Amino acid sequence: VRHSHTLDMVMTDFAPDVVIHFAGLKAVGDSMSDPLGYYDVNVGGTLALLHAMDRAGVRRIIFSSSATVYGEPDYLPYDEAHPTAPTSVYGRTKLAAESLLTDWCFANPEASAVILRYFNPVGAHPSARIGEDPSDTPNNLMPYIAQVAVGKRETLQIFGDDYDTPDGTGMRDYIHVVDLARAHVAALDYAVANTGARPFNVGTGDAYSVRQMVDAFAKASGRDIPCRVMPRRDGDIAAMQANAARANEELGWTATHTLTDIAQSTWD
Ligand code: UDP
Repeated sequence: VRHSHTLDMVMTDFAPDVVIHFAGLKAVGDSMSDPLGYYDVNVGGTLALLHAMDRAGVRRIIFSSSATVYGEPDYLPYDEAHPTAPTSVYGRTKLAAESLLTDWCFANPEASAVILRYFNPVGAHPSARIGEDPSDTPNNLMPYIAQVAVGKRETLQIFGDDYDTPDGTGMRDYIHVVDLARAHVAALDYAVANTGARPFNVGTGDAYSVRQMVDAFAKASGRDIPCRVMPRRDGDIAAMQANAARANEELGWTATHTLTDIAQSTWD
């Protein structure tokens, strides 16, 4: 995505009506130790892409952003008007890319940028042919639980059970990847029909705790998931939850998959 010449060839070969920009680095921990690499790919890559789009006269883009742009919640659920104060380098690169898209649209009144702020994508395609199975140590909860269930790892470490939540473990708004994919299809229609830059929360509006995720997965797999409670993970917040009303109303999109679907498709 930082290779201008290749991007020019792609624009020429495909002459896209809309670009969906997924390319980016996404490990919060890595971003703290490699800020230049993260700015280079996530911000530099977006800049190189917009330049290539400009050269080819392509005026519409859908961007994978993240709910992490909000930072510590002033209130929950987050709506799109919630202040943005990301607590990691990763979050700041996403916010910088959002600003770039907003400024680009401001300078090009016919341009359109749909900014999708993903909450916690999980689950797998129902075919069981596309899913997540990281070869190195998983950073995220769901792939870690899955590796414990199949016996690849012994215990799940629960990062803190003393949060101000009903069972003390962290809560997140987990969104099934197929719902997330459907949000992009809805965003394509929106980008064709509208101009300007606009952020949308892509979440379910519900939140589940670490313990609820473990229970759902144990049920789907019929296996025990041994857990050990550890200290809180640096930089983690107690709970995150989307207000998805804007995406529901303006994109005509709603998440339809349940927690059971998430656990079952991951296990499949
Ligand atoms: N979590 C955990 N053990 C793990 C990985 C994650 O207890 O091995 C917790 C984490 O503290 C958070 C939730 O699971 O409350 C989701 O974490 P994840 O890294 O999947 O997503 P994040 O919201 O941090 O991007």
